Amino acid sequence: MVADTTYYDLLGVKPEATEGEIKKAYRKQAMLHHPDKNPNDPEASQKFQGLQNAYSTLIDAEERAAYDRYGVDGGPGGHGHSHDMDPEDFLAHLFGGMPFGGGPMPGGPRRRGRKGEDTIIPYDVTLEDLYNGKTAYFNTERNVLCGTCKGSGGRPNAKPSKCTKCNGRGITTVHRQVGPSQVGVSQVTCPDCHGEGTKIRDKDRCKKCKGGKITNEKKKLEVNIEKGMVDRQKIVLAGEGDQEPGIKTGDVIFQLRSKPHETFERSGADLLTAVAITLSEALLGFSRILITHLDGRGIHVASEPGKVYTPGETIVVKGEGMPTYKLPDKRGDLYIVFELEMPSPEWLQKVDRTAIEKLLPPKKADISPRPEVVDDVEYEHTDVGNFGDDDDDEEWDSDDDEDDEDEMGAPDCRPQ
Ligand SMILES: [Zn+2]
Ligand SMILES: [Zn+2]
Repeated sequence: MVADTTYYDLLGVKPEATEGEIKKAYRKQAMLHHPDKNPNDPEASQKFQGLQNAYSTLIDAEERAAYDRYGVDGGPGGHGHSHDMDPEDFLAHLFGGMPFGGGPMPGGPRRRGRKGEDTIIPYDVTLEDLYNGKTAYFNTERNVLCGTCKGSGGRPNAKPSKCTKCNGRGITTVHRQVGPSQVGVSQVTCPDCHGEGTKIRDKDRCKKCKGGKITNEKKKLEVNIEKGMVDRQKIVLAGEGDQEPGIKTGDVIFQLRSKPHETFERSGADLLTAVAITLSEALLGFSRILITHLDGRGIHVASEPGKVYTPGETIVVKGEGMPTYKLPDKRGDLYIVFELEMPSPEWLQKVDRTAIEKLLPPKKADISPRPEVVDDVEYEHTDVGNFGDDDDDEEWDSDDDEDDEDEMGAPDCRPQ
């Protein structure tokens, strides 16, 4: 049972899809929805990003398990909350809605000494957060052992008696609907005694927790996002999970999810950005603030005198990349790729074309030697992404494509 099927729906697979099926579905969808192939759809890159989010979550076993359990927001599913839910609220939901950390364990009474389940919470961060560092606070609620009875559930010296529901076995049998017409029988932890096999008599119950052994605690959790942390890095808050009698308390683990940045692309400690310069700047040079860095500083660059900047010309600014985790003063490099912003047709209408022609290098002549046969051909404007796209998806549907995942696994997207 999964909390939310949005990601599965995006890829067009069932929630029980195998890893191979997810990979295959992603390739197919990525081919269809790549922004290069949909130049007229203003939402193309957003759709494509959605696909990538879905894929990166579902292909990682741990993240997929967390998604299946809590949905996109990391909160419990089925309550119809939106993606914009306040992160401070979802934790309250999460902790409030989680009975005893993990639910019943089929197969017998709870084993003593086992550790409670860890709670993994995906946490979206910006590249600015990872560059500058950030402290986030979460108001949470969790189950803690009752302070009055120290988690025994009874008054001091109260003797527990045998649970009548399970006759002291700690487990009961339930019938479960497993298919449209099938009923399965399975053993679950006894809900009355939580697998203990014994219960406190009503009159001996602790007044505070009413025999439940646990109470609710509100707490502010502090999460330190350190400079240089990376996508998927985990921040472990040891022992902050739900408490439960006889079990070592599990951890609350925040797993960072780095949101794509408008300006910068990160690879390790290096940053990459693209800057558009005009034709005048490409030919005559420039000296200006090209970008605003992740800490708000302007980065001023002067061109090399006499140099013609061609599209794709790349420079590197040493030490202006991302800080290194635990070594924030050690920084990667900043790569700047220049794009050429050509003048608009409107500009061209207003200027003296003959004057420009006199100034610019001359036009080229025909190919020499001239071919004997020359055809005047018709054409239409297109996108190079359409090259090789013959509407035949056969090669992506075959089963022997497991080894070429890198081709579509990391689409080559450049920031704007
Ligand atoms: Zn109590
Ligand atoms: Zn019982």
